[in-house]
Amino acid sequence: MRALLATMSLALLTGTALAAPIPVVASFSILGDMVKQVGGDRVEVTTIVGPNADTHVYEPRPQDAVVLGEAKAFFVNGLGFEGWFNRLVEATGFKGEVVTASTGVVTHTMDEDGQKITDPHAWQSLVNGQLYVANIAKGLCAVDAEGCATYEANAAAYSAQLASLDAEVKAAIGSVPEAERKVITTHDAFGYFGQAYGVTFMAPEGISTESEASAADVAKLIEQIRQAGVKALFVENMSDPRLVQQIAAETGAKLGGALYSDALSEPGEGAATYLDMFKHNVGLLVPALEGK
Ligand SMILES: [Zn+2]
Repeated sequence: MRALLATMSLALLTGTALAAPIPVVASFSILGDMVKQVGGDRVEVTTIVGPNADTHVYEPRPQDAVVLGEAKAFFVNGLGFEGWFNRLVEATGFKGEVVTASTGVVTHTMDEDGQKITDPHAWQSLVNGQLYVANIAKGLCAVDAEGCATYEANAAAYSAQLASLDAEVKAAIGSVPEAERKVITTHDAFGYFGQAYGVTFMAPEGISTESEASAADVAKLIEQIRQAGVKALFVENMSDPRLVQQIAAETGAKLGGALYSDALSEPGEGAATYLDMFKHNVGLLVPALEGK
């Protein structure tokens, strides 16, 4: 007890030296990793939608209110990705800093059943990823001014890693003839990836996994696959693989494995960080596009 009191008074004397990490929350696993990279030891990140899970159809649990009650900041993607965000914030009366990581991204829209819908999957471009990192650093500085220099330094180092991987991805995809760069995935999660790296992605499901693909959508896609000679078909780690498996069976196209679209993997599965997720996806895409 005496030792504990001594430690406590030491902490009081030295200020932040022994301070507990600042509790913050991230809405999904990819963003959670980015916040960890920028926050380092100064923050304790809790992620609401974990590895291999689907944020589009997530239903908030009572536990989320508990972690938000403690949190100083809540990091979200925005662009409509977390459809449950308003409900959760209203239900919990969260009064901390809400940081929208996609702020400033040049968005694109997609036509879905006659409606224009903003694509939320902006993290699938590493240039956008660097914008996320800058927004995260700003958000952390807002709740912890003392740590701001640390966050800015972490953000600069991490951004440099993202920029260097961005160049590697451009070179790797650039080695594939343009006409071959066509890919089928389960849902439209790779629009930003496609724009950034020059790949055409097609999917039976739209921007969200909430709406199911119609029989007509699937028939149209199968026709496109046959006409365009698409060789690369992928399932995703966080959505139902059966539709793409069925399309592969009907077209005779080969399945290239699972891409990480909206969630990281569990630790040890090869895509447990944002950087590793990109390396994993490009490592699968390039040989599949080359027909290997
Ligand atoms: Zn998605």
